[in-house]
Amino acid sequence: MSSELYPAEPFRIKSVEFVKMNTREERERIAKEAGYNTFLINSEDVYIDLLTDSGTNAMSDNQWAGMMLGDEAYAGSRNWYHLEETVKELFGFKHVVPTHQGRGAENLLSKIAIKPGQYVPGNMYFTTTRYHQEANGGIFVDIIRDEAHDSTIDIPFKGNIDLNKLQKVIDEQGAENIAYVCCAITVNLAGGQPVSIQNIRETSELCHKYGIKMFMDATRCVENAYFIKEREEGYANKSIKEIVLEEFSYADGCTMSGKKDCLTNIGGFLCLNDEELFLAAKEMVVVFEGMPSYGGMAGRDMEAMARGLKESVQDEYIEYRVKQVRYLGDRLLEAGVPIVEPVGGHAVFLDARRFCPHLTQDEFPAQALAAQLYIDSSVRSMERGIISAGRDKATGKNHYPKLETVRLTIPRRVYTYKHMDIVAEAVINLYKNRDEIRGLKWVYEPKQLRFFTGRFEHI
Ligand SMILES: *Cc1c(COP(=O)(O)O)cnc(C)c1O
Repeated sequence: MSSELYPAEPFRIKSVEFVKMNTREERERIAKEAGYNTFLINSEDVYIDLLTDSGTNAMSDNQWAGMMLGDEAYAGSRNWYHLEETVKELFGFKHVVPTHQGRGAENLLSKIAIKPGQYVPGNMYFTTTRYHQEANGGIFVDIIRDEAHDSTIDIPFKGNIDLNKLQKVIDEQGAENIAYVCCAITVNLAGGQPVSIQNIRETSELCHKYGIKMFMDATRCVENAYFIKEREEGYANKSIKEIVLEEFSYADGCTMSGKKDCLTNIGGFLCLNDEELFLAAKEMVVVFEGMPSYGGMAGRDMEAMARGLKESVQDEYIEYRVKQVRYLGDRLLEAGVPIVEPVGGHAVFLDARRFCPHLTQDEFPAQALAAQLYIDSSVRSMERGIISAGRDKATGKNHYPKLETVRLTIPRRVYTYKHMDIVAEAVINLYKNRDEIRGLKWVYEPKQLRFFTGRFEHI
């Protein structure tokens, strides 16, 4: 294990949380009681929790110190001014509106920028993003490059927008019928795949030529910046801070989930350059989130986020972060386990179609695989396939996404390389016994975002 390929943790551990391993019999019962949905398993019953990188970050001593400086005034908290100043400095946008988490920002943006019937092209959908777009009358159109839907194609910027697809939507629907273009960096559901600066710039030029705004889903903008530094010509000697600023220099605003790259456990914000949209967002935030100087966050949370953002753009941290994820991917690839390639920024995605060729997509191979991995090893992962994709709003039919995956998401600064070894061993063992993974069927299918609370049983 070369420390150049996989750099050691650029921190030491000052506080620990003990975890315990329960027995296989217990896990069989727990999985059944949870309806074979890993979202419904208690955290205490999990040994290594790779359900999500959302809100699972370990904060630094500096962030915890900041928590004690929370100014919990209803209006005008000093922590808000610190956060606002930090976001403006790092992202370069004119205005910031705080929200309780990313979806709060998505709700506000969808409400102020979408007229019913308008199209919202984006580089692959994200669950909550598309939900808010559709709930506000928008029609999502996928304009990601084709390769993103194929788990076997290893290219550097698999999250890029296909400019021809965008041009086609503009030609067919008319620029006035496009609310805005949403560019996610990185693309979560494609496997955490990055978007190049060149693609961000060209998308922005195309949008602005037609007077269309471009908003970024900034959730993993720092991880995206690391891939640009590593892979895009001319960026090797730039700092992550410079690259993050350049990413946003082409956009009209962004939505941000504080639970991912901000290195905090809760929070979010919306950035805008446009004055009118900013005023509209400020009027709306009062109704849905809170005052424009806290937006659903406590003062201490805003302080932790301001400090976390500054830590997140440190070059050593982000290099370690992305390479630890890659380490797990490399272990699995060496053993021949089918995963989405190349490995993205926050997670390793198992390709459930190739992992479970004996199951059809209607037997929910990714859901079944995630449940079996928990039973085998007390490692918790999540489904990103047909269950997450939901049903078409108009026809009620299931979406059948090409990618049927199980996501092993690595929390930031929480687990060691040894934990990654344990996960790799568990997945490799399960791959050897993959014939035993049984398909699932619905017991309870929720109407919205069904992966969160849906329940299943074995066929
Ligand atoms: C998590 C996430 C969101 C939503 O953010 P929340 O803070 O969970 O509401 C939006 N987009 C992407 C790509 C995400 O990963």
